[in-house]
Formats: sequence, structure tokens, C-alpha cells
Amino acid sequence: MSKNILKNLSLPAGKKNLLLHSCCAPCSGDIMKRLLDSNISYTVYFYNPNIHPHEEYLLRKEENMSFSIKYNIPFIDADYNPRTWFEMTKGMEMEPERGKRCSTCFDMRFVKTAEYASQNGFDIISSTLGISRWKDMNQINQSGIYAASKFQDIEYWTYNWRKENGSQRMIEVSKDESFYMQEYCGCVYSLRDTNTWREKNLRPTIEIGKKFYSHSEKDTTDN
Ligand code: SF4
Repeated sequence: MSKNILKNLSLPAGKKNLLLHSCCAPCSGDIMKRLLDSNISYTVYFYNPNIHPHEEYLLRKEENMSFSIKYNIPFIDADYNPRTWFEMTKGMEMEPERGKRCSTCFDMRFVKTAEYASQNGFDIISSTLGISRWKDMNQINQSGIYAASKFQDIEYWTYNWRKENGSQRMIEVSKDESFYMQEYCGCVYSLRDTNTWREKNLRPTIEIGKKFYSHSEKDTTDN
């Protein structure tokens, strides 16, 4: 683990209770620990109907839930409604990652997060998605701000989780915890595109549930 002393985080002025949308344990591990160390009150909200197949969804969710239990953090297991996700992304099947389909995917997940927040006493939301170097932070922030704007008194916290080597610490926590290493973003189209890339580069295609972080593993993932 990094030996650097990290600054305490603080929520934007006037905000007290964070609902943290989480996509998986590897992306949320370091963020959850930093929030805890900073004494920020938060709850994890797992809403990711984009994840395909269901076996992969369960792997990601159950690991995230176990990690939350380990640190005594409340965990909300939201609905898995992939049919709605497929309807919303219809016509965008061939979009590249970071394109229009991803904006729709973020919007869907964040609007639901903001709605839950507004109905359950939270005043701010954020997401762990932005810690991944494969994601476009601006795209994520735009979706988060849009989602929060639909509900009174909810704000989206645009904190850059990659600051102070956040992406590297995320990998270190994942190795320490031997987290499941997901090798594609999540949806069936990202699975297809990652496997196409792998075939072109003479690499084996993805096997769901087979790969885990370890200290002997190189710091390379496809997502
Ligand atoms: S690539 Fe990732 S962010 Fe984009 S639509 Fe698929 S699951 Fe959602």
C-alpha cells in the first residue's frame, strides 16, 4: 500500500449525507476506505442493470456487499432491471465506449441513485465509476449533474477520485482484498468489443468468474 499520508476528504459546504453509487468492489474499495477515514457519513448504492450476464452481475454485487459488511457500511441492493437498460440503449449497440450509449447508461444509473437519495434523507450523491482510467470523468460528471438536477436539494459531488494516485491505490486495495477482476466494463456490448479486441491481439477471450487480483498479477486490466 502507498505510504503517503492522504488528505481528509470533505463534502461540499452544507452537505452531510452521501449516497455513493458503486459499480463494483475494485472501483469502490479505496474510495470507501477514504470516506471512512475522513469520517464522512455515507451509504453504498448498487444499481447496475447494465451488467451482463447475470452471473457477472452477481459476482460484482456480492463482492461489493461483502466488502461493505466488512467495514460496517450500509449497502442498498437496488433493482436489477436489464430489460429497461436494453430498451434505453436500443439503437446504440455499435457505439464505442465513452460514446452516447455510455452517457445513457450513466444517466439511467445516476437518476435512479438521485431519486433514492431524495426520497431517503441524503443530500448529495457521487459515483465510484470515475476512478477508472478507462472512463471519461467529464462524461460521468455531466451525467451526475444532470441526474441530481432533477431532484430538489440533491447535488452531484464531482470529486476526482484519481487524485493523489487514486487509480493506483484502487489496484492496491483490490490486490490486498483479492477482489474479482472484471475484464470488461459491464454490458454485453463491452464484452463483445473486448473479446473482439482480444481475438485480434491473439489473447484468450474472457471467462466470467475466473480472474482475481493478486500481488503477483501485473497491473493490467482491459477495464
Ligand atoms: S460500456 Fe460500460 S458505461 Fe458504456 S454502456 Fe456498456 S456498461 Fe455502460
